[in-house]
Order: sequence, then C-alpha cells, then structure tokens
Amino acid sequence: MGNIVAIVGRPNVGKSTLFNRLTQTRDAIIHESSGVTRDRNYGTVNWNGYDFSLIDTGGYVVNSEDIFEEEIRKQAMLAIEEADSIIFMVDVVSGITDLDDAVAGLLRKSKKKVFLVANKVDNSERFYDATFFYKFGLGEVFPVSSITGSGTGDLLDKVVESFIDGPVETEEPDIPKF
Ligand code: GDP
Ligand code: MG
Repeated sequence: MGNIVAIVGRPNVGKSTLFNRLTQTRDAIIHESSGVTRDRNYGTVNWNGYDFSLIDTGGYVVNSEDIFEEEIRKQAMLAIEEADSIIFMVDVVSGITDLDDAVAGLLRKSKKKVFLVANKVDNSERFYDATFFYKFGLGEVFPVSSITGSGTGDLLDKVVESFIDGPVETEEPDIPKF
C-alpha cells in the first residue's frame, strides 16, 4: 500500500464526518501522543479495489479559533510530513476564514498533492458557492456533502487515480529524451 491520505482543516468543517463516511466506521483507533492533545484517527478506505490509509486530524472540538491557530498549524505540518497526499477541507457555508488562509498557505508551500474539498454542499445552490475556493490557487475544488455522501465518489476517484499516476510532478522543466 503505502498510500496515506490526511484530512486537514479548521474545526467544524466536517473532517470527522467525512472520515467516518469513507472508513464506514465510528470506532476508529485513536492514537494519543502522551502529554499532548493531538490525537489522530487512522482508518482504511477501499475504493474500486484500491486500499489507502486515511488520517483524521484534530479530534477535539474548540470554540475559539484564535487561541488554537498554532495547534491547527502544527496538525497541518504533521499531516504534510506524515501523509502522501492531503485532503484540505473547507466549509461552503462559512466561507473562507483566516484559519483557512493559514492552512492553505502551508499547503501551497508543501510539495504534497492537495485535494481541496468544499464540504456541506448539501444542495445545488451551494455548488456555485463552492467555486469561491478556487481563489486559494490549490487547483480543483471538490464539492461534497459528507452528510449525504454527494460528491465523495468523484473525490475518491481522483484520490485513487493519484496513486496510479505516481508522485506529484516537480517544478523542474521536462527534458526531452532522445
Ligand atoms: P470537524 O471538526 O472538522 O471534524 O467537523 P465534524 O465532522 O465534527 O462536523 C462538524 C459539524 O458539521 C457537525 O455538526 C456535522 O454534523 C456538520 N457537518 C459535517 N458534514 C456536513 C455536511 O456535509 N453538511 C452539513 N450541513 N453539515 C455537516
Ligand atoms: Mg473532528
């Protein structure tokens, strides 16, 4: 296997809801690093005959985004180190927040493949709103509803495709072979 995908994003965008849907479980193993509140859920997803590992980050609920910005950054950095590709989740209902911008900045700098997922696209009107997230400059926006499952199939198709395609292209120019 060796295909590891991490879901990152600020609290309450729906990361755990997507994790539970894709892994079809509610009792994933929780790994707690001693002394820190940084717990992570690990699960396995099977899609069209491909297995991959999925990590849900930030398994605790917080009320103030400001206080925990540093923690979200740490989670994103860990995910970048640990995973082969990243699902960056944002919330179409709340739009872009400063925390989203901060995470997007980290991901742009990383060389990891990023799947930008606009969650809570529960109806067709929200499809249009999801296009707003193209301004992150992180490529294709995948509109999904983690609650209904809408859009998750298209997302999984692309995630699995990226394993077949191999590593992400670097910025080096193509050198023609003779
Ligand atoms: P996390 O903090 O990012 O892990 O977010 P959760 O998975 O805990 O979800 C936060 C809230 O958003 C919960 O009340 C979920 O029920 C809700 N939620 C998650 N996905 C969706 C969705 O697709 N549509 C709607 N309307 N709500 C959602
Ligand atoms: Mg969660």
